Amino acid sequence: MSNPPSIIVVGGNAAGPAAAAKAKRVNPTANVTLIEATDYISTGSCELPYVLSGVIDSYQKIVFYNSETFQSEKGVNVLTKHLVESINRKEKTISVRNLVTNQLFFLPYTKLILATGSVSNKIEKINYHCENVFTFKTVYDLITIQNYIQEKKSKVVSIVGSGFIGLELSEAFRNLGLHVILIEKENLIFPSAEIEISSITKQILVDNNIDIYTGIKSPNFFYEENKIRKIKIDSRLIETDILITATGFVPNVSLALQSKLDIGTTGAIKVNSKLQTSDSNIFAVGDAVETINPINNQPINIQLASAAQKMGHIAGENAAGGNVYFKNYIKNISLKVFDNYSASVGLTLKELQNERILFKTVQASTPNLVKVMPGSSSVFGMIHFEKHSKRILGSSFFGGKEVSGYADLVVSFILLKTPINELVNITYNYTPALSSLINLLSILGRKSENIK
Ligand SMILES: Cc1cc2nc3c(=O)[nH]c(=O)nc-3n(C[C@H](O)[C@H](O)[C@H](O)COP(=O)(O)OP(=O)(O)OC[C@H]3O[C@@H](n4cnc5c(N)ncnc54)[C@H](O)[C@@H]3O)c2cc1C
Repeated sequence: MSNPPSIIVVGGNAAGPAAAAKAKRVNPTANVTLIEATDYISTGSCELPYVLSGVIDSYQKIVFYNSETFQSEKGVNVLTKHLVESINRKEKTISVRNLVTNQLFFLPYTKLILATGSVSNKIEKINYHCENVFTFKTVYDLITIQNYIQEKKSKVVSIVGSGFIGLELSEAFRNLGLHVILIEKENLIFPSAEIEISSITKQILVDNNIDIYTGIKSPNFFYEENKIRKIKIDSRLIETDILITATGFVPNVSLALQSKLDIGTTGAIKVNSKLQTSDSNIFAVGDAVETINPINNQPINIQLASAAQKMGHIAGENAAGGNVYFKNYIKNISLKVFDNYSASVGLTLKELQNERILFKTVQASTPNLVKVMPGSSSVFGMIHFEKHSKRILGSSFFGGKEVSGYADLVVSFILLKTPINELVNITYNYTPALSSLINLLSILGRKSENIK
Protein backbone atom coordinates (compact mmCIF):
# COMPACT_ATOMS: atom_id res chain seq x y z
CA MET A 1 0.00 0.00 0.00
CA SER A 2 1.33 3.45 -0.92
CA ASN A 3 1.90 6.12 1.71
CA PRO A 4 -0.91 8.66 2.19
CA PRO A 5 -0.26 11.90 0.27
CA SER A 6 1.21 14.82 2.14
CA ILE A 7 -0.50 18.12 1.36
CA ILE A 8 1.16 21.21 2.77
CA VAL A 9 -0.49 24.62 2.82
CA VAL A 10 1.71 27.69 3.34
CA GLY A 11 -0.13 30.65 4.87
CA GLY A 12 -2.89 30.35 7.44
CA ASN A 13 -5.13 33.40 7.26
CA ALA A 14 -8.10 33.23 4.82
CA ALA A 15 -7.30 31.11 1.76
CA GLY A 16 -4.93 28.69 3.53
CA PRO A 17 -7.31 27.31 6.18
CA ALA A 18 -10.06 26.96 3.53
CA ALA A 19 -7.69 24.97 1.32
CA ALA A 20 -6.38 22.77 4.14
CA ALA A 21 -9.82 21.92 5.54
CA LYS A 22 -11.20 21.15 2.09
CA ALA A 23 -8.23 18.91 1.17
CA LYS A 24 -8.74 16.90 4.35
CA ARG A 25 -12.49 16.58 3.71
CA VAL A 26 -11.92 15.37 0.15
CA ASN A 27 -9.18 12.91 1.11
CA PRO A 28 -9.43 12.03 4.82
CA THR A 29 -6.40 9.72 4.53
CA ALA A 30 -4.11 12.58 3.42
CA ASN A 31 -1.69 14.17 5.88
CA VAL A 32 -2.59 17.84 5.65
CA THR A 33 -0.38 20.46 7.31
CA LEU A 34 -1.03 24.20 7.56
CA ILE A 35 2.02 26.38 8.20
CA GLU A 36 1.69 30.00 9.34
CA ALA A 37 4.47 32.45 10.16
CA THR A 38 2.54 34.50 12.74
CA ASP A 39 0.79 33.60 16.01
CA TYR A 40 -2.64 33.51 14.45
CA ILE A 41 -4.52 31.42 11.91
CA SER A 42 -7.95 32.01 10.46
CA THR A 43 -8.52 35.62 11.40
CA GLY A 44 -11.21 37.98 10.13
CA SER A 45 -9.15 40.64 8.35
CA CYS A 46 -12.33 42.28 7.02
CA GLU A 47 -13.55 42.73 10.60
CA LEU A 48 -10.35 44.47 11.76
CA PRO A 49 -11.77 48.02 11.32
CA TYR A 50 -14.79 47.06 13.42
CA VAL A 51 -12.60 45.89 16.29
CA LEU A 52 -10.60 49.11 16.02
CA SER A 53 -13.79 51.21 16.26
CA GLY A 54 -15.15 49.10 19.13
CA VAL A 55 -18.18 47.77 17.20
CA ILE A 56 -16.67 44.33 17.88
CA ASP A 57 -15.40 44.45 21.43
CA SER A 58 -12.35 42.17 21.27
CA TYR A 59 -9.83 40.99 18.70
CA GLN A 60 -10.25 37.50 20.09
CA LYS A 61 -13.70 37.40 18.48
CA ILE A 62 -12.11 37.61 15.04
CA VAL A 63 -9.63 34.80 15.61
CA PHE A 64 -11.97 32.09 14.40
CA TYR A 65 -9.72 29.07 15.15
CA ASN A 66 -6.49 28.45 16.99
CA SER A 67 -4.04 25.61 16.21
CA GLU A 68 -5.78 23.22 18.60
CA THR A 69 -9.36 23.84 17.51
CA PHE A 70 -8.42 23.73 13.82
CA GLN A 71 -6.53 20.49 14.38
CA SER A 72 -9.33 18.83 16.36
CA GLU A 73 -12.24 20.06 14.19
CA LYS A 74 -10.62 19.83 10.75
CA GLY A 75 -8.03 17.07 11.22
CA VAL A 76 -5.27 19.34 9.91
CA ASN A 77 -1.83 19.60 11.56
CA VAL A 78 -1.06 23.24 12.30
CA LEU A 79 2.31 24.89 12.78
CA THR A 80 2.15 28.56 13.80
CA LYS A 81 5.26 30.75 14.22
CA HIS A 82 6.85 28.70 11.44
CA LEU A 83 8.12 30.39 8.30
CA VAL A 84 8.49 28.47 5.06
CA GLU A 85 11.81 29.75 3.73
CA SER A 86 12.23 27.89 0.46
CA ILE A 87 10.84 25.25 -1.88
CA ASN A 88 12.94 22.55 -3.53
CA ARG A 89 10.72 21.59 -6.47
CA LYS A 90 13.04 18.83 -7.67
CA GLU A 91 13.12 17.05 -4.31
CA LYS A 92 9.56 18.14 -3.47
CA THR A 93 10.55 19.44 -0.06
CA ILE A 94 10.21 22.75 1.74
CA SER A 95 12.50 24.26 4.35
CA VAL A 96 10.72 25.54 7.44
CA ARG A 97 12.11 27.77 10.19
CA ASN A 98 10.69 27.49 13.70
CA LEU A 99 10.58 31.17 14.60
CA VAL A 100 10.67 30.44 18.33
CA THR A 101 13.70 28.11 18.44
CA ASN A 102 15.23 29.28 15.12
CA GLN A 103 15.59 25.62 14.14
CA LEU A 104 15.45 24.85 10.39
CA PHE A 105 13.95 21.59 9.15
CA PHE A 106 12.66 20.07 5.93
CA LEU A 107 9.28 18.59 5.06
CA PRO A 108 8.43 16.51 1.97
CA TYR A 109 5.20 17.24 0.08
CA THR A 110 3.09 15.47 -2.48
CA LYS A 111 1.15 18.67 -3.24
CA LEU A 112 1.89 22.16 -2.02
CA ILE A 113 -0.58 25.05 -1.80
CA LEU A 114 0.77 28.59 -1.54
CA ALA A 115 -1.61 30.88 0.34
CA THR A 116 1.00 33.51 1.15
CA GLY A 117 -1.41 36.41 0.62
CA SER A 118 -0.32 40.02 0.36
CA VAL A 119 1.63 42.54 2.38
CA SER A 120 1.03 46.25 2.99
CA ASN A 121 2.54 48.47 0.36
CA LYS A 122 4.99 50.87 2.02
CA ILE A 123 5.95 54.42 1.11
CA GLU A 124 9.68 54.52 0.49
CA LYS A 125 10.54 57.73 2.26
CA ILE A 126 8.72 56.84 5.48
CA ASN A 127 10.65 55.26 8.33
CA TYR A 128 8.34 52.47 9.50
CA HIS A 129 10.52 51.87 12.56
CA CYS A 130 9.11 55.04 14.12
CA GLU A 131 6.90 54.21 17.10
CA ASN A 132 3.86 56.14 15.78
CA VAL A 133 3.90 54.83 12.19
CA PHE A 134 1.72 51.87 11.26
CA THR A 135 0.14 49.87 8.45
CA PHE A 136 -3.17 48.05 8.87
CA LYS A 137 -3.37 44.48 7.62
CA THR A 138 -3.15 42.01 10.49
CA VAL A 139 -4.42 41.34 14.00
CA TYR A 140 -0.92 42.21 15.14
CA ASP A 141 -1.21 45.68 13.48
CA LEU A 142 -4.58 46.18 15.15
CA ILE A 143 -3.34 45.29 18.64
CA THR A 144 -0.24 47.47 18.24
CA ILE A 145 -2.31 50.49 17.17
CA GLN A 146 -4.91 49.97 19.91
CA ASN A 147 -2.21 49.72 22.59
CA TYR A 148 -0.42 52.80 21.25
CA ILE A 149 -3.53 54.98 21.21
CA GLN A 150 -4.50 53.89 24.69
CA GLU A 151 -1.04 54.36 26.15
CA LYS A 152 -0.28 57.71 24.47
CA LYS A 153 -3.85 59.02 24.58
CA SER A 154 -3.50 59.95 20.89
CA LYS A 155 -5.87 62.59 19.57
CA VAL A 156 -4.89 63.13 15.92
CA VAL A 157 -4.39 60.45 13.30
CA SER A 158 -3.18 61.04 9.75
CA ILE A 159 -4.00 58.44 7.15
CA VAL A 160 -2.20 58.35 3.83
CA GLY A 161 -4.35 56.70 1.16
CA SER A 162 -8.13 56.97 0.79
CA GLY A 163 -8.94 53.60 -0.76
CA PHE A 164 -11.05 50.98 1.00
CA ILE A 165 -8.78 50.63 4.03
CA GLY A 166 -8.10 54.36 4.39
CA LEU A 167 -11.85 55.04 4.38
CA GLU A 168 -12.61 52.27 6.85
CA LEU A 169 -9.87 53.56 9.14
CA SER A 170 -11.16 57.14 8.89
CA GLU A 171 -14.58 56.05 10.08
CA ALA A 172 -13.19 53.82 12.82
CA PHE A 173 -10.98 56.58 14.24
CA ARG A 174 -13.82 59.13 14.08
CA ASN A 175 -15.98 56.72 16.04
CA LEU A 176 -13.21 56.57 18.63
CA GLY A 177 -13.30 60.39 18.85
CA LEU A 178 -9.93 61.07 17.20
CA HIS A 179 -9.39 63.93 14.79
CA VAL A 180 -8.77 62.38 11.35
CA ILE A 181 -6.64 63.82 8.55
CA LEU A 182 -6.96 61.94 5.26
CA ILE A 183 -4.26 62.48 2.63
CA GLU A 184 -4.70 61.29 -0.97
CA LYS A 185 -2.36 61.66 -3.93
CA GLU A 186 -5.16 61.61 -6.52
CA ASN A 187 -7.47 64.61 -6.98
CA LEU A 188 -10.46 62.80 -5.47
CA ILE A 189 -10.69 60.46 -2.52
CA PHE A 190 -11.70 56.80 -3.10
CA PRO A 191 -9.93 56.88 -6.47
CA SER A 192 -10.90 53.35 -7.53
CA ALA A 193 -14.61 54.25 -7.38
CA GLU A 194 -16.70 56.00 -10.02
CA ILE A 195 -16.25 59.80 -9.80
CA GLU A 196 -19.88 60.29 -8.67
CA ILE A 197 -19.35 57.89 -5.76
CA SER A 198 -16.01 59.46 -4.82
CA SER A 199 -17.78 62.84 -4.64
CA ILE A 200 -20.65 61.58 -2.46
CA THR A 201 -18.15 59.81 -0.20
CA LYS A 202 -16.11 63.00 0.15
CA GLN A 203 -19.19 64.94 1.25
CA ILE A 204 -20.03 62.29 3.87
CA LEU A 205 -16.49 62.43 5.25
CA VAL A 206 -16.57 66.25 5.35
CA ASP A 207 -19.94 66.09 7.17
CA ASN A 208 -18.25 63.82 9.70
CA ASN A 209 -15.48 66.37 10.30
CA ILE A 210 -12.69 64.51 8.55
CA ASP A 211 -10.01 66.80 7.12
CA ILE A 212 -9.31 65.82 3.53
CA TYR A 213 -6.26 66.75 1.46
CA THR A 214 -6.33 65.56 -2.15
CA GLY A 215 -3.81 65.88 -4.98
CA ILE A 216 -0.96 65.54 -2.48
CA LYS A 217 1.69 63.75 -4.51
CA SER A 218 4.57 63.95 -2.13
CA PRO A 219 3.96 65.05 1.45
CA ASN A 220 7.04 65.63 3.60
CA PHE A 221 7.35 64.02 6.99
CA PHE A 222 9.19 65.58 9.91
CA TYR A 223 10.64 63.43 12.65
CA GLU A 224 11.01 64.19 16.36
CA GLU A 225 12.73 61.63 18.50
CA ASN A 226 11.37 58.29 17.25
CA LYS A 227 8.13 59.70 15.84
CA ILE A 228 6.68 61.46 12.82
CA ARG A 229 5.22 64.60 14.39
CA LYS A 230 4.57 66.90 11.45
CA ILE A 231 3.54 66.51 7.83
CA LYS A 232 4.10 69.21 5.25
CA ILE A 233 1.25 69.27 2.74
CA ASP A 234 1.89 71.93 0.08
CA SER A 235 2.73 74.92 2.28
CA ARG A 236 0.79 73.74 5.34
CA LEU A 237 2.42 72.06 8.31
CA ILE A 238 0.12 69.60 10.07
CA GLU A 239 0.74 68.07 13.47
CA THR A 240 -0.13 64.45 14.05
CA ASP A 241 0.05 61.88 16.85
CA ILE A 242 -0.11 58.82 14.60
CA LEU A 243 0.53 58.14 10.92
CA ILE A 244 -1.01 55.17 9.14
CA THR A 245 -0.27 54.40 5.52
CA ALA A 246 -3.07 52.65 3.67
CA THR A 247 -1.69 52.57 0.16
CA GLY A 248 -2.76 49.10 -0.89
CA PHE A 249 -1.40 45.57 -0.66
CA VAL A 250 1.21 43.84 -2.79
CA PRO A 251 0.96 40.12 -3.61
CA ASN A 252 3.46 38.19 -1.48
CA VAL A 253 5.34 36.22 -4.12
CA SER A 254 8.72 35.76 -2.44
CA LEU A 255 8.47 31.95 -2.19
CA ALA A 256 7.19 31.73 -5.76
CA LEU A 257 10.08 33.86 -7.00
CA GLN A 258 12.62 31.86 -5.03
CA SER A 259 11.33 28.63 -6.55
CA LYS A 260 11.08 30.20 -10.03
CA LEU A 261 7.35 29.79 -10.49
CA ASP A 262 5.82 31.97 -13.19
CA ILE A 263 4.70 35.45 -12.12
CA GLY A 264 2.01 37.22 -14.17
CA THR A 265 1.73 40.74 -15.49
CA THR A 266 -0.07 41.95 -12.35
CA GLY A 267 2.91 40.88 -10.23
CA ALA A 268 0.99 37.97 -8.69
CA ILE A 269 1.56 34.21 -9.11
CA LYS A 270 0.26 32.91 -12.41
CA VAL A 271 -2.20 30.01 -12.08
CA ASN A 272 -4.46 28.06 -14.43
CA SER A 273 -8.18 27.59 -13.83
CA LYS A 274 -7.44 24.62 -11.53
CA LEU A 275 -5.25 27.05 -9.57
CA GLN A 276 -2.06 25.18 -10.44
CA THR A 277 1.07 27.28 -10.81
CA SER A 278 3.63 26.65 -13.54
CA ASP A 279 4.56 23.55 -11.45
CA SER A 280 1.53 21.21 -11.50
CA ASN A 281 2.30 19.94 -7.97
CA ILE A 282 2.10 23.45 -6.56
CA PHE A 283 -1.17 25.34 -6.30
CA ALA A 284 -1.58 28.99 -5.32
CA VAL A 285 -4.61 30.85 -3.98
CA GLY A 286 -5.91 34.13 -2.57
CA ASP A 287 -4.35 37.59 -2.67
CA ALA A 288 -1.09 36.14 -4.01
CA VAL A 289 -2.44 34.96 -7.36
CA GLU A 290 -3.38 36.23 -10.77
CA THR A 291 -6.48 34.77 -12.40
CA ILE A 292 -8.48 35.71 -15.48
CA ASN A 293 -11.32 38.22 -15.39
CA PRO A 294 -14.17 36.62 -17.40
CA ILE A 295 -15.54 40.02 -18.48
CA ASN A 296 -12.52 40.99 -20.58
CA ASN A 297 -10.35 37.82 -20.41
CA GLN A 298 -7.54 39.88 -18.92
CA PRO A 299 -5.32 38.95 -15.94
CA ILE A 300 -6.60 40.16 -12.59
CA ASN A 301 -5.24 40.04 -9.04
CA ILE A 302 -8.31 39.87 -6.79
CA GLN A 303 -7.63 40.83 -3.18
CA LEU A 304 -10.89 39.84 -1.55
CA ALA A 305 -11.71 37.43 1.26
CA SER A 306 -14.61 36.00 -0.73
CA ALA A 307 -12.27 35.07 -3.60
CA ALA A 308 -9.61 33.76 -1.22
CA GLN A 309 -12.08 31.41 0.41
CA LYS A 310 -13.44 30.17 -2.89
CA MET A 311 -9.97 29.62 -4.33
CA GLY A 312 -8.93 27.82 -1.15
CA HIS A 313 -11.75 25.31 -1.56
CA ILE A 314 -10.93 24.71 -5.20
CA ALA A 315 -7.17 24.27 -4.74
CA GLY A 316 -7.75 22.13 -1.64
CA GLU A 317 -10.06 19.82 -3.56
CA ASN A 318 -7.72 19.60 -6.55
CA ALA A 319 -4.65 18.97 -4.39
CA ALA A 320 -6.55 16.08 -2.80
CA GLY A 321 -7.32 14.52 -6.19
CA GLY A 322 -10.37 16.52 -7.35
CA ASN A 323 -11.00 18.20 -10.68
CA VAL A 324 -12.71 21.55 -10.11
CA TYR A 325 -12.22 24.97 -11.65
CA PHE A 326 -12.02 28.59 -10.53
CA LYS A 327 -13.88 30.43 -13.24
CA ASN A 328 -16.57 33.01 -13.74
CA TYR A 329 -15.50 34.98 -10.68
CA ILE A 330 -16.84 38.51 -11.08
CA LYS A 331 -15.27 41.06 -8.74
CA ASN A 332 -17.96 42.26 -6.33
CA ILE A 333 -16.60 44.68 -3.77
CA SER A 334 -18.38 46.68 -1.13
CA LEU A 335 -17.67 49.20 1.59
CA LYS A 336 -19.44 50.87 4.48
CA VAL A 337 -19.11 54.68 4.62
CA PHE A 338 -20.67 55.82 7.92
CA ASP A 339 -24.44 55.24 7.37
CA ASN A 340 -24.06 54.45 3.66
CA TYR A 341 -22.68 51.65 1.52
CA SER A 342 -20.85 51.43 -1.78
CA ALA A 343 -20.90 48.32 -3.96
CA SER A 344 -19.09 47.83 -7.24
CA VAL A 345 -19.24 44.92 -9.64
CA GLY A 346 -17.09 44.08 -12.65
CA LEU A 347 -15.32 46.88 -14.51
CA THR A 348 -15.46 50.58 -13.65
CA LEU A 349 -15.41 53.47 -16.13
CA LYS A 350 -11.67 54.00 -15.60
CA GLU A 351 -10.97 50.31 -16.22
CA LEU A 352 -13.17 50.29 -19.32
CA GLN A 353 -11.37 53.28 -20.78
CA ASN A 354 -8.28 51.06 -21.06
CA GLU A 355 -10.22 48.34 -22.90
CA ARG A 356 -10.96 47.96 -26.57
CA ILE A 357 -14.68 47.60 -25.89
CA LEU A 358 -17.26 50.05 -27.17
CA PHE A 359 -19.48 50.77 -24.21
CA LYS A 360 -22.22 53.06 -22.99
CA THR A 361 -23.18 54.16 -19.49
CA VAL A 362 -26.47 54.85 -17.75
CA GLN A 363 -26.90 56.29 -14.30
CA ALA A 364 -29.76 57.30 -12.02
CA SER A 365 -30.64 58.25 -8.46
CA THR A 366 -33.93 57.32 -6.86
CA PRO A 367 -35.38 56.99 -3.35
CA ASN A 368 -34.56 53.58 -1.84
CA LEU A 369 -37.97 53.52 -0.12
CA VAL A 370 -41.10 55.38 -1.12
CA LYS A 371 -40.34 59.04 -0.33
CA VAL A 372 -43.00 59.39 2.36
CA MET A 373 -41.57 56.49 4.39
CA PRO A 374 -39.36 57.41 7.34
CA GLY A 375 -35.73 56.55 6.59
CA SER A 376 -36.14 56.93 2.84
CA SER A 377 -32.94 58.18 1.25
CA SER A 378 -31.38 58.40 -2.17
CA VAL A 379 -29.63 55.48 -3.85
CA PHE A 380 -27.33 56.02 -6.82
CA GLY A 381 -26.65 53.45 -9.53
CA MET A 382 -24.56 53.30 -12.67
CA ILE A 383 -24.25 50.54 -15.25
CA HIS A 384 -21.77 50.19 -18.12
CA PHE A 385 -22.81 47.96 -21.00
CA GLU A 386 -21.36 46.89 -24.31
CA LYS A 387 -22.81 49.04 -27.07
CA HIS A 388 -23.32 46.27 -29.58
CA SER A 389 -24.44 43.27 -27.48
CA LYS A 390 -25.87 45.28 -24.55
CA ARG A 391 -24.23 42.82 -22.12
CA ILE A 392 -23.43 44.43 -18.76
CA LEU A 393 -19.73 45.06 -18.09
CA GLY A 394 -19.81 46.68 -14.69
CA SER A 395 -21.89 48.67 -12.27
CA SER A 396 -21.64 50.67 -9.07
CA PHE A 397 -24.15 51.61 -6.43
CA PHE A 398 -24.14 53.94 -3.43
CA GLY A 399 -26.90 54.18 -0.85
CA GLY A 400 -28.35 52.04 1.91
CA LYS A 401 -28.08 48.30 2.48
CA GLU A 402 -30.09 47.66 -0.70
CA VAL A 403 -26.90 48.17 -2.75
CA SER A 404 -25.76 44.70 -1.75
CA GLY A 405 -28.77 43.10 -3.45
CA TYR A 406 -28.32 45.22 -6.60
CA ALA A 407 -24.65 44.27 -6.86
CA ASP A 408 -25.35 40.55 -6.39
CA LEU A 409 -28.08 40.67 -9.04
CA VAL A 410 -25.79 42.41 -11.49
CA VAL A 411 -23.16 39.67 -10.99
CA SER A 412 -25.77 37.16 -12.19
CA PHE A 413 -26.72 39.38 -15.15
CA ILE A 414 -23.05 39.64 -16.16
CA LEU A 415 -22.57 35.88 -15.95
CA LEU A 416 -25.77 35.18 -17.87
CA LYS A 417 -24.91 37.90 -20.40
CA THR A 418 -28.35 39.41 -19.81
CA PRO A 419 -28.78 42.48 -22.05
CA ILE A 420 -29.29 45.63 -19.97
CA ASN A 421 -32.71 46.37 -21.53
CA GLU A 422 -34.02 43.13 -19.99
CA LEU A 423 -33.77 44.82 -16.57
CA VAL A 424 -37.15 46.43 -17.17
CA ASN A 425 -38.80 43.01 -17.50
CA ILE A 426 -37.85 41.70 -14.06
CA THR A 427 -40.49 41.61 -11.36
CA TYR A 428 -38.93 43.36 -8.39
CA ASN A 429 -40.46 43.06 -4.95
CA TYR A 430 -42.26 46.05 -3.50
CA THR A 431 -43.47 47.04 -0.08
CA PRO A 432 -43.05 50.64 1.22
CA ALA A 433 -40.87 49.72 4.18
CA LEU A 434 -38.44 47.71 2.03
CA SER A 435 -38.25 49.09 -1.50
CA SER A 436 -39.48 51.69 -3.95
CA LEU A 437 -42.29 51.05 -6.43
CA ILE A 438 -39.99 51.52 -9.40
CA ASN A 439 -36.78 49.64 -8.86
CA LEU A 440 -33.46 51.39 -9.58
CA LEU A 441 -32.39 48.55 -11.89
CA SER A 442 -35.59 48.92 -13.87
CA ILE A 443 -34.93 52.68 -14.24
CA LEU A 444 -31.41 51.96 -15.49
CA GLY A 445 -32.71 49.34 -17.93
CA ARG A 446 -35.25 51.81 -19.33
CA LYS A 447 -32.63 54.55 -19.66
CA SER A 448 -30.44 52.21 -21.70
CA GLU A 449 -33.20 51.90 -24.29
CA ASN A 450 -32.92 55.62 -25.08
CA ILE A 451 -29.19 55.46 -25.70
CA LYS A 452 -28.02 55.03 -29.26
C1 LIG B 1 -8.55 45.89 6.97
C2 LIG B 1 -8.99 44.96 5.88
C3 LIG B 1 -10.32 44.92 5.52
C4 LIG B 1 -10.73 44.07 4.50
N1 LIG B 1 -12.07 44.03 4.17
C5 LIG B 1 -12.50 43.15 3.24
C6 LIG B 1 -13.88 43.05 2.94
O1 LIG B 1 -14.72 43.78 3.50
N2 LIG B 1 -14.28 42.14 2.01
C7 LIG B 1 -13.38 41.30 1.37
O2 LIG B 1 -13.80 40.47 0.57
N3 LIG B 1 -12.05 41.40 1.64
C8 LIG B 1 -11.58 42.29 2.55
N4 LIG B 1 -10.25 42.36 2.82
C9 LIG B 1 -9.30 41.56 2.04
C10 LIG B 1 -9.13 40.16 2.62
O3 LIG B 1 -8.85 40.24 3.97
C11 LIG B 1 -8.00 39.45 1.88
O4 LIG B 1 -8.36 39.36 0.53
C12 LIG B 1 -7.75 38.06 2.45
O5 LIG B 1 -7.29 38.14 3.77
C13 LIG B 1 -6.70 37.34 1.60
O6 LIG B 1 -6.46 36.10 2.18
P1 LIG B 1 -5.13 35.28 1.90
O7 LIG B 1 -5.19 34.09 2.77
O8 LIG B 1 -4.95 35.10 0.44
O9 LIG B 1 -3.94 36.24 2.34
P2 LIG B 1 -3.56 36.92 3.73
O10 LIG B 1 -4.75 37.29 4.50
O11 LIG B 1 -2.58 37.99 3.38
O12 LIG B 1 -2.81 35.77 4.51
C14 LIG B 1 -1.57 35.24 4.12
C15 LIG B 1 -0.95 34.54 5.30
O13 LIG B 1 0.21 33.84 4.87
C16 LIG B 1 1.23 33.93 5.87
N5 LIG B 1 2.52 33.69 5.20
C17 LIG B 1 3.02 34.38 4.13
N6 LIG B 1 4.20 33.85 3.75
C18 LIG B 1 4.44 32.81 4.58
C19 LIG B 1 5.53 31.88 4.68
N7 LIG B 1 6.57 31.93 3.85
N8 LIG B 1 5.48 30.94 5.66
C20 LIG B 1 4.42 30.90 6.50
N9 LIG B 1 3.37 31.75 6.46
C21 LIG B 1 3.39 32.70 5.51
C22 LIG B 1 1.04 35.36 6.39
O14 LIG B 1 1.61 35.50 7.67
C23 LIG B 1 -0.48 35.49 6.39
O15 LIG B 1 -1.06 35.12 7.62
C24 LIG B 1 -9.80 43.23 3.84
C25 LIG B 1 -8.45 43.28 4.21
C26 LIG B 1 -8.05 44.13 5.21
C27 LIG B 1 -6.58 44.17 5.61
